[in-house]
Amino acid sequence: MPIKRMNGAHVPHRKNTAEMAAVRIPVPQQLVIPMSMHIGAPAKPVVKPGEDVKVGQLIAEAGGFVSAPIYSGVSGKVIKIDELVVSNGSTVPAIRINSDGEQTVLEDLTPPTVTDYESFLEAVRNSGVVGLGGAGFPTSVKLKVDLEKVDAIIINGAECEPYITSDTRTMLDRTDEVWAGVEMLQKYLQAKRIIIGIEDNKPQCIAKFNELCKTTQGVEVAALPSMYPQGGEKVLIFNTIGKIVPEGKLPIDVGAIVLNCTTLATIAQYIQTGMPLVEKCITIDGSAVANPQNVIAPIGTPMKDLFEACGGFKTEPRKVLYGGPMMGIAVPDLENPVLKNTNAVLAFDEKDAKPPEPTACIKCGRCIAHCPLKLMPADIEKAFSLERPEDLKELKVNLCMECGCCSFVCPAKRPLVQVNKLSKAMLNKYNAQLKAEEEARKAKEEAKKKEEEAANE
Ligand code: SF4
Ligand code: SF4
Repeated sequence: MPIKRMNGAHVPHRKNTAEMAAVRIPVPQQLVIPMSMHIGAPAKPVVKPGEDVKVGQLIAEAGGFVSAPIYSGVSGKVIKIDELVVSNGSTVPAIRINSDGEQTVLEDLTPPTVTDYESFLEAVRNSGVVGLGGAGFPTSVKLKVDLEKVDAIIINGAECEPYITSDTRTMLDRTDEVWAGVEMLQKYLQAKRIIIGIEDNKPQCIAKFNELCKTTQGVEVAALPSMYPQGGEKVLIFNTIGKIVPEGKLPIDVGAIVLNCTTLATIAQYIQTGMPLVEKCITIDGSAVANPQNVIAPIGTPMKDLFEACGGFKTEPRKVLYGGPMMGIAVPDLENPVLKNTNAVLAFDEKDAKPPEPTACIKCGRCIAHCPLKLMPADIEKAFSLERPEDLKELKVNLCMECGCCSFVCPAKRPLVQVNKLSKAMLNKYNAQLKAEEEARKAKEEAKKKEEEAANE
């Protein structure tokens, strides 16, 4: 019986750079490397201002279990450790390195010794790899699971956001590394079933991996309809193995692990060569960019250097995004750097940057029909405007993955995804308040009980 598929939206693909192999940009003069490029504790600097560094050298160690080390992508001198304001407005510590332009690689980079699951996990941790598709969750933590529970590992090559083609280039230009990663998963995680999920607008990638799958058992390609958000973790799990990840649960709770294809290729590269994560392939595109292309740049490269490498702007950019147009985050300043999970930087002209003018909801139900998780965005918007967090809980707003399908299909151009983000904040505040009230009530009861016990003694 064919698997039912989750809904979504037919967004324009705009994969303008899919045929362009990535080009390495000139060595940047300075890198700005934030210590928080992942979910979890910030990394801790292990270098000091004035110290010389080389490509591949550790500059910050993991700050806890859920964290990741950071390595330099240039050779040069650490000039400062200061702070950087990032896209969510928070301030994080950052290491600034002036490049010497030589790109001298650290002499003692050697491949790690990997013989079993534990040493594989250790290598993944030391590689500095986090979810490179955008999530930024430390991959070694994701892979630390009870292997008995794993039914399928899904390699995410969907790349469903418009414009972005950096994973497409990984699958085409680094096929051997992706495949080496697949073999490592078979060997060290004893993965019984590996599914490479690729949208059907990438026929070359599908053909390449279909050929490779003929050489081994237990690996298959799932050619998926080009339907946004096919690459969303929950959507991909449902559309490949038919399992629903319940609210508050993780993919492993339904027997799945999802790994982005570039994440896997980078792990394989580290295990084969000893070179950790120091650079990224990034799609540079959008209506304001003179020559859109895929570039390879050290992590920490300022945005302005990426655009310069693409011929600059053909018109003044009015909106610059980290990521795609559906889920991207605004870049506050072109001095902001490439992060570990940056897969695209898009710059749009005035026409494309202008938000549409919303009109009244006409109750057409399209937002519900297209939501992959069957949420009710119009009702969420109403509950938010009436400040009813209890209704937001009922409407399961915390399940929303902020994919933006509802806003995209809404004929009234309601800002539904923005409202969902604010609704989650409202609900989380309400939940925290309920928790605090419950704790205060328990503390009062406990104090009363102790008083009564003391009185009875
Ligand atoms: S409600 Fe959330 S998950 Fe559903 S379409 Fe809108 S943004 Fe996506
Ligand atoms: S799609 Fe827009 S207009 Fe239609 S019900 Fe949803 S919010 Fe209202």
